[in-house]
Amino acid sequence: MTTTHAPGRVCVLGSANVDDVREVDRFPRPGETVFARSRTRVPGGKGLNQAIAAARAGAATALRARIGRDEEGRMLRAAAAGAGVDTAGMLEVPAATGSAAILRDGAGENSIVVAGGANAAFTELTADDLAAIAAADVLLLQGEVPVVALEQAAVHARDHGTRVILTPAPVQEFGADLLSAVDLLVPNEHEACALAGLEDPRAAARALTATRRRVLITLGGRGAALVDPTGTVQEIPSVPVRAVDTTGAGDAFCGALAARLAAGAELPEAARWAAAAAALSVTREGSATSPAREEVEQLLDR
Ligand code: ADP
Repeated sequence: MTTTHAPGRVCVLGSANVDDVREVDRFPRPGETVFARSRTRVPGGKGLNQAIAAARAGAATALRARIGRDEEGRMLRAAAAGAGVDTAGMLEVPAATGSAAILRDGAGENSIVVAGGANAAFTELTADDLAAIAAADVLLLQGEVPVVALEQAAVHARDHGTRVILTPAPVQEFGADLLSAVDLLVPNEHEACALAGLEDPRAAARALTATRRRVLITLGGRGAALVDPTGTVQEIPSVPVRAVDTTGAGDAFCGALAARLAAGAELPEAARWAAAAAALSVTREGSATSPAREEVEQLLDR
C-alpha cells in the first residue's frame, strides 16, 4: 500500500525548449544531406518535462523559466498549463524560445543540438521567482540554465527552508556555493561519473555525498541507489516493464520524486514511487510521458 499525503508545493526552475525531432534512417556524415522519414515538434527541456511530471504526480507545481515572445513560447506555455502547471513564472524575454534539433535513427540513437535561446538569458531571478521558491516545499533544479541562476535559487531556497534537489544534467561547473545548498543530488550514471571524475558509478555516488547531502543515483533499467553521507546505500529496485522509449525517464523520475517529497513522504518511499512513475513513462513514446498519480498508485498496489 502507498501512503497518501496532502499535495505539496514544488517549484521547478529550469529550461523550456521545443524539441524538433526528425526520424532518419541513418545520421548524415559531415557535408551530407539526408531526408527525414518524419518530423514532429513537441514540448521539451528538462525544466518543463520535470514540472509536468511533478504536476501529474499530484503536486501544486510552479515553473520558473524564460521563453521568447513567439509561437514556440506560446506552445510551451499551453503544454505546461494543460498539465496543470502554474505558468505565471514562464517569463517572456527578448530572445527566441529555446529549441533542440533532435535526429533519431532507426536504432533509437539520438544526436541532439540545443540552441539555448531564452534559457541562456536566465541569468537573474525576479522578486516573483524568489517568492515562488520561498513558498515551495521543494525546489527542483537541472543544468540547462546558467549556473548563476541555479546558485541564486538554491541559496535562497536554503535560507527559506525549501528543500533543494539538483539533477546535474548536463554537467556544468556548478561551484561550491550551489552544491553546498543542495540537499539531494540526482545524477544518472554518466553524470555521477563526470561530476566525481571517477569511472565506477557507485564509487562516484559515494564521493558526491558531503555533509547533509544525499545522492540518489539512477541506474536505468536497474533502478536507483540512495547513498547517504555515512556511506549507507539503499537499493531502489526498478519496476519491470516492457520499455518502448527511455528518453526522459530521468525527468519523469525527478518530477515524481519532488512531488512525493513535497507531500511529506520519506526519501526511500518517494524514490520507490518515482521508480514506478519512471517505469510507466518508459512504456510510452516521447519524453514528456509522465503518468498520472492514480496510474502510479495502481502499479504500486498491484
Ligand atoms: P536518465 O533518463 O536521466 O538517463 P535513467 O536512465 O537512469 O535516467 O532512468 C531513470 C529512472 O527511470 C531509473 O532509475 C528507473 O527507475 C527508471 N527506468 C529507466 N529505464 C527503465 C526500464 N527500462 N525499466 C524500468 N524502469 C526504468
